[in-house]
Formats: sequence, C-alpha cells, structure tokens
Amino acid sequence: MRIFDVTKTLNNGVKIPVLGLGVFKSGQNTKRAVEYAINIGYRHIDTAAVYGNEDQVGEAVKSAGINRKDIFITTKLWNDDMRNGTQRQAIEKSLELLKTDYIDLYLIHWPVKGKIAESWAVMEEYYTKGVLRAIGVSNFLESHLDELLSYASIIPAVNQVECSPFLTQEPLTEYCVKKGIAVEAWSPLAKGVALTNEVILEIAKKYNKTAAQIIIRWHIQNDRIVIPKSVHEERILSNSLVDDFELTIEDMNRISALNENRRMGSDPNNFNF
Ligand code: NDP
Repeated sequence: MRIFDVTKTLNNGVKIPVLGLGVFKSGQNTKRAVEYAINIGYRHIDTAAVYGNEDQVGEAVKSAGINRKDIFITTKLWNDDMRNGTQRQAIEKSLELLKTDYIDLYLIHWPVKGKIAESWAVMEEYYTKGVLRAIGVSNFLESHLDELLSYASIIPAVNQVECSPFLTQEPLTEYCVKKGIAVEAWSPLAKGVALTNEVILEIAKKYNKTAAQIIIRWHIQNDRIVIPKSVHEERILSNSLVDDFELTIEDMNRISALNENRRMGSDPNNFNF
C-alpha cells in the first residue's frame, strides 16, 4: 500500500492519512507546494488560520481537480480568536478561505488559559452540525487535557504536539493513547536540525535512505501522524518515499534514545503569543 493511502482511524471513526504536508512558513510558495504534493499523491494538508495561507491551500485543492472528499484538511483556531470570543467567526473565515463547507480536523492551536472550555463548546457545536468532521487540540500537556476531559462531551480526536528525535514525548503519548487521543507530530524533523545528527545519518546510510526518510519512517512506525513541511518539490517527493523499508526495533530504539526533551518551539505552559 502506498504511504498516501495509509490511514489511522480516529476515535470517532474518521480516517486520517498518516502522512501530511505541513505548510507553516510556506509563504507564497504554499499554493505551488500543495498542488505538487496533491499531484504526486499526498491527501492530507496541515494549515492554520495564523499561517495566513488557508486561501492558497483552498486554491490548490480546487485547481488540483480532486474530489473534496479525497483530501484531508486540518486547520486551527488561533489564540486571539479564543481570547476575543470570536471562535464562530474564526471557523466561518477558515471555511471561506479554504473554499469548503467542512473541515476534516479542527484544532485548538494553543492551550490559552481560561479560554479552552468556551472554545471547545463552540467546536462541539460545529462538530455536531457536521461542519467539523473531527475536533482536537494542539500543544496540550497532560494538565490541559485533564482540564478539558473534565467537562468535554466530545473527547479530542488528536493532540498535535512538537515531536522529534530530540523530543520523543513518551509520557504524553502514553497518556493520549490511554484516552484514545491520536498523537500527531509537528516539527517532526526538528525543523531540519535533526537531519544532520550523526546517528540519524549513520542509520540513513545503512538503509540507503535520506535522514528525513528515516525520521519520518520512525514517526510512522511509532504510530504517529506526521506532517513534514517543505516547499521544495524534490523534498516533498522524497519525504513520501518511506513505504519500501522498515526500521528494526534496534534502530527505532537508537533514534528514540536521541531524546533530550529539547523543544524547537514554545513551551505550552509559557508562550507569549
Ligand atoms: P519540520 O520539522 O517539518 O521541518 C521543516 C524544515 O525542514 C524546513 O526548513 C524544510 O525546508 C526542511 N526540510 C523538509 N524536508 C527536508 C528534506 N527532505 N531535506 C532537507 N530539509 C528538509 O518543521 P515545521 O516546523 O515546518 O513542522 C511541520 C508542520 O507542523 C508545519 O509546517 C505545520 O503544519 C505544523 N506545525 C504545527 C505547530 C503547532 O503549534 N500545532 C507548530 C509548528 C508546526 P524547505 O521548506 O526549505 O524544504
């Protein structure tokens, strides 16, 4: 089976392709990158309102000429809309920019203190209406999930968190798995920094694969959804060529042992945006 056709079934039965294309900081290249990705077989795109490129994602999906139901689109509720109480407007705006009448997966982007309950209630309402096929969270630690689960009617389908060989997120993953929440890895390549790690390069040589392919395969074999970003066609293509080999348990463990709980992005308990 091609990697593009491999899906994970979320806790509400919705299927998400395990490999997606991330478009954070893809800028004006977003439309071209997404069109190319769809043309070679990607069926999952990860964007967010704050990335400012939902319109380009929507255009690319239209111009790629595939059925809307054959592509999985994730977008996210931005912090300002949580603080300002404009969650409904935010969802409507994303739908308009994406040129679609539904979103496959809608996430709370960051755990904005004191605003999670109200935001989740609006998301549950849109989920119930069928506008959001699945709802989830991003950058939630156990404490944030504990809070949300204490009042949620709908359990989040996904927690999208920073995860890479330098930040393997084992305790949080164990918690999520126990609660039926799928783990999705953002900055899966540690923003490219992990690509020059010696252990990764040594393993890459052994399998005759690129460092990125080794890391992406490691995420997938760890049962994570993974959304590497690139605006370069050769990388978008090569990042998807991960279905013709399998890492041994020893090599999986060697990569996991690179963990140093090192974040490239912000701490979910202490972010300033
Ligand atoms: P990644 O770990 O995906 O790394 C992206 C970087 O690696 C880019 O500089 C890219 O460069 C480079 N790269 C990609 N593939 C290769 C390759 N094969 N060889 C060499 N370099 C490569 O980091 P991101 O931070 O972009 O994370 C991925 C996605 O996760 C985002 O795009 C976004 O969708 C999501 N995300 C979500 C967050 C959240 O808070 N929920 C936060 C951050 C990201 P180039 O493009 O020039 O090829």
